[in-house]
Amino acid sequence: MTTFQNFIAGAWSAPSTGEYFDNVNPADARDLVGRFPKSGRDDVERAVESAWRGFAVWSRTPAPARGDVLRRVGDLLSARKEEIASLMTREMGKPLQETRGDVQEGIDTAYYAATEGRRLFGHTVPSELRNKWAMTYRRPIGVCGLITPFNFPLAIPTWKAFPALLCGNAVILKPAEDVPLTATVLVEVLLEAGLPPEVIQLVHGMGETVGAALVEHPRVPVISFTGSTETGSIVGAECGRRHKRLSLEMGGKNAQIVLDDANLDLALEGVLWGAFGTTGQRCTATSRLIVQAGVHDRFVSMLESRAKALRLGDGRKAGTDVGPLIHAASREKVERYVEVGAEQGAELVTGGRRATGEGLEHGFFFEPTIFTGVTAGSRLEQEEIFGPVLSVVRVADADEAFRVNNGVRYGLSSSLYTQDLNIAFRAMQELDNGITYVNAPTIGAEAHLPFGGVKETGNGHREGGWEVYEFYSETKVCYVDY
Ligand code: NAD
Repeated sequence: MTTFQNFIAGAWSAPSTGEYFDNVNPADARDLVGRFPKSGRDDVERAVESAWRGFAVWSRTPAPARGDVLRRVGDLLSARKEEIASLMTREMGKPLQETRGDVQEGIDTAYYAATEGRRLFGHTVPSELRNKWAMTYRRPIGVCGLITPFNFPLAIPTWKAFPALLCGNAVILKPAEDVPLTATVLVEVLLEAGLPPEVIQLVHGMGETVGAALVEHPRVPVISFTGSTETGSIVGAECGRRHKRLSLEMGGKNAQIVLDDANLDLALEGVLWGAFGTTGQRCTATSRLIVQAGVHDRFVSMLESRAKALRLGDGRKAGTDVGPLIHAASREKVERYVEVGAEQGAELVTGGRRATGEGLEHGFFFEPTIFTGVTAGSRLEQEEIFGPVLSVVRVADADEAFRVNNGVRYGLSSSLYTQDLNIAFRAMQELDNGITYVNAPTIGAEAHLPFGGVKETGNGHREGGWEVYEFYSETKVCYVDY
């Protein structure tokens, strides 16, 4: 077992508190991944001081040169892809085929950011006056506090850190306490690629201490948060009071709609992996299945047999489809929602209990669970569960399906399976989500496209795409008289 440290002021160092927390493998809680710093406010204070020194150097480095560092980061992540995927599976639980995808997203984000180094365009704009030039350019802001969740241990920190760095900012990363090892490796890679040490700070620890200290710190003008809507609301209120620039990416209650004319085999693949991939712990997970009456019974029975055949286990073993939940509290939360479903009269089709069997005894496994007869507006249909629980709602037609899709407080992703081009185009316009997929599941993202949600999923900013470069830079206007 290894004890890991923070990276502050250009060196790996012990926390000021002298305290550490254990990080265990959720597939086998006896397997201790490592001990990580339980940092205090003094560590955040040091990180902020150092980050401003880093900013003084980095903000003056030309953007194409900053991009070159990120290109090397992409190369290093590519070279270590298999190793990082494996350690990520050990600390987070999702199977190797998914953690490889998580690392690949980081690689794509690095290469995309590298090219943006030559494209941080401003505008020249005609002035109203003679002999005057007017122009805009994008300048870095300062120190960015990045607070990330457990479910994409590499991809989400890279979605934030790489554009922030490319724009010339210094960053302080506070990773989720469930996945500190992947974040540690990311910082190692950034340093090896040639990032000046004080430009990146890694402060491990609890959200209520380290996260809150970053959010409250007067010299951290930018906060980018991804996590639950409950935590994001606390972060949002604090940042609002302090007039900080804030990006919030929060919860979801995503639906896949299957209409009578859909290709059911395609729709089946979509919902199976959308609902149960990453054990239902994706912000874009398919948590609701909205099925038109004509195909409802047939489709549910097809889904039931596929869900029952999913193989649970340690994600590092070949053949594993679904890993564990992240920790015991998360499994208890899922169990409470199974009780809620039963109380509200929904019918349990499969699952609904802890998974047992050889190799599962010491992990936080839960059977893929499907409820039918779920009514729109019920708790099961409205609340984010963040586990392998799918609620099926039967609808009469596309209009009702759209109404049910839109009837939740979240708005991250939606998916529609149909052969009807007219309904597909209506869906792209009428579904209240940041992302709509047609004939594809609610999950998946590409680094060069904006990612994010509407309503209580987000506050309008986006990760990925060129939009994120607007968040991490300020527009300055210059007038030149000649
Ligand atoms: P979480 O809200 O429990 O924690 C997220 C981060 O916030 C962690 O680093 C945590 O330590 C920190 N934190 C906790 N309390 C804090 C506080 N008071 N102040 C500052 N920081 C604090 O979320 P989680 O369980 O790690 O992740 C799951 C949630 O994230 C789900 O709701 C999921 O939908 C959401 N998510 C959203 C997106 C998106 O892009 N919309 C992507 C991934 C995950």
